[in-house]
Amino acid sequence: MNLDDQVTVINGVGDVVASKLAKLGIRTVGDLIDHYPRKYDDFTNVTRISQLHPGMVTVKVVIKHAKSRYARRGLNITEAVASDETGSVRLIWFNQPYRADSIDNKKEYFVRGEFQLRSQRLSITNPSVELVSDFPIHSARIVPTYRATKGLKSTQLRKIIANLLPNIAKLDETLPEWVVKEQNLVSHSRALEKLHFPDENDDIELAKSRLGFEEVFQISLASLLNKYENASHNSVSIEFDEVKAQNFVASLPFKLTNSQRKVVWQIYNDLQNTQPMNRLVEGDVGSGKTVVACMAALMVMNVGFQVAIMAPTEILARQHAETMTTLLSPMNMSDKVGLLLGSMTQQQKQNALSTLSDGRTGLIIGTSALIQESVSMNNLALVVIDEQHRFGVDQRKKIVSKAGTMPHVLSMTATPIPRSLALVIYGEMDISVMSDLPRGKQVVKTELVSPNSTDKMYDSLSKQIEEGRQVFIVCPMIDENNSESYDSVIATYETLRVGKLVKYKVGLLHGKLKSDQKEKVMNDFSKGKTQVLITTTVIEVGIDIPNATVIVVLSPERFGLAQIHQLRGRVGRGAHKGYCYLVLSDSNQPSRRLRALVENHSGFDLAELDLEIRGPGAIYGTAQHGVIDLRIANLSDVKMIEAAKNAAQQFIEKKEKLVKYPELQRNVSNLRKVTNLN
Ligand code: ADP
Ligand code: MG
Repeated sequence: MNLDDQVTVINGVGDVVASKLAKLGIRTVGDLIDHYPRKYDDFTNVTRISQLHPGMVTVKVVIKHAKSRYARRGLNITEAVASDETGSVRLIWFNQPYRADSIDNKKEYFVRGEFQLRSQRLSITNPSVELVSDFPIHSARIVPTYRATKGLKSTQLRKIIANLLPNIAKLDETLPEWVVKEQNLVSHSRALEKLHFPDENDDIELAKSRLGFEEVFQISLASLLNKYENASHNSVSIEFDEVKAQNFVASLPFKLTNSQRKVVWQIYNDLQNTQPMNRLVEGDVGSGKTVVACMAALMVMNVGFQVAIMAPTEILARQHAETMTTLLSPMNMSDKVGLLLGSMTQQQKQNALSTLSDGRTGLIIGTSALIQESVSMNNLALVVIDEQHRFGVDQRKKIVSKAGTMPHVLSMTATPIPRSLALVIYGEMDISVMSDLPRGKQVVKTELVSPNSTDKMYDSLSKQIEEGRQVFIVCPMIDENNSESYDSVIATYETLRVGKLVKYKVGLLHGKLKSDQKEKVMNDFSKGKTQVLITTTVIEVGIDIPNATVIVVLSPERFGLAQIHQLRGRVGRGAHKGYCYLVLSDSNQPSRRLRALVENHSGFDLAELDLEIRGPGAIYGTAQHGVIDLRIANLSDVKMIEAAKNAAQQFIEKKEKLVKYPELQRNVSNLRKVTNLN
């Protein structure tokens, strides 16, 4: 049996079970082995019959007098007597007539079920029965529970996986021997065996630390290899013009923050190298990343090369174009700024494309329209990817490929990534953190609101509107194609427009509107023509409306903490204080996660908390890192992460050959595709 074989090669797995397994994403034997337990129950405790108390129990018994009978229509009862050396107890099953014939009254069994009062007698009801002479998997041990699906229970998965144990035991070691030794790891096969069927609790820990180390080692190796490959390319060295930089800074209507100065300096250093820059700027919402990008662009244009800035939405791209035009006008460079959006007319696009390809445009700003076939650049030397986590790997690669040689790449994100996680998933990038905000910490006052007491909230919201301020109401729409949540933003709009907000001008914004409609809605709101904007998360990124002071988030349970933090960063950006109301979807006690938003105003802290409570997927969308498999690794374990990274570094320094380790090679090459920019 091979790991790549279809699950149907396994005894007892036919087409029906295979189709259920497919629903869990399991197609091959390897997938099945990688279907790790979701949790464990400790059923090691075997009770003597004389010591039984009501509740779930396991006994070790011989079973006699098993008899099945029809009590009445539709109800079959099977009874038996189980005994150990201390006494006897009745076993009773409902509608499982096959039980009577499947029991051998000379053999010993583990029996597990609920000990309870049934027809005036204490009995063990609907118990599982396993031969002691077999390898017990459902009782008398630490029992794994698996993520299951309709028609395929965890107990069945347990059986199927237990059948694979002999195959698991034969699996080759996947890591180099020296790594296993130095790190004191258990072998690959033993780890998998014990992860599924641990003998004791310590086995689980040992298995997890081995497999977690392996996950991080593989990613580290992939990103190091990418990093070296990237460094082997040549980019244009961008000469630093100090006077230009000083003039630009002097022309700004504000003083740069320390973070901005530090990061711009790092970027200018990178740009002077012929080694391509690959830097990620991580800065909380409002930390002023746009100016930083503009200063990078300035230096590149100054020596006659082109810059492309790609933003995730048209609204944001337009806003960037306006900002850049303004910022660059004192340098007499505003006519160098171009815009390319999917929604532009054919004529507009043609103009943009021709000034881009002949080099009249020095700074092109756009959405993913920039990666269309028809776009050709003259001499692109710097690519800026704003809100980079919103783009897929392919999109990022495509924009980079628009340059003749490898361009410098600057990625920006407002999603704060905890350091330990960043070390893992951004291994091949240099990271700059913008830690201070321009106007100090402007805390957006945040409140949790129970769904049946929103009156007070609407009162204060009305008060704000009457004072001239503006309001966002955000409905959860995670997937734009999900019609159920699509309705909710419209339903909310229709209800509020004629209800609580009848006195005000209300706008509606969501991803399914046509581009020019979106534009109009956004424009109306930013010009103050509408007072309330009912919207999906399309407003999440970037949008700068200084007059907006209130944001209401409906069903905040459905959002990540970092995402809500970004959303509330949309308000209180001007002179007035910002307020955020999180309207819970039910009146239960709010979760620890949501309560943290009230107290905590650091994007980084919130990201750490989300990482701890919900795992890396919550912070880092699975879309981008679908292949990056961090199911086991404890990502708060900075020591382990550093050890894994060191081992990966050594692997390269020792000039180890990946071909010697087929499984590692396969995983690393998949991972490189997800992260590589080349
Ligand atoms: P983000 O990091 O979220 O992209 P922006 O670049 O949009 O932040 O900046 C947010 C706001 O702060 C903008 O209105 C910008 O003009 C302003 N800003 C940026 N840098 C400074 C600064 N050093 N001092 C004052 N205001 C600044
Ligand atoms: Mg921004």
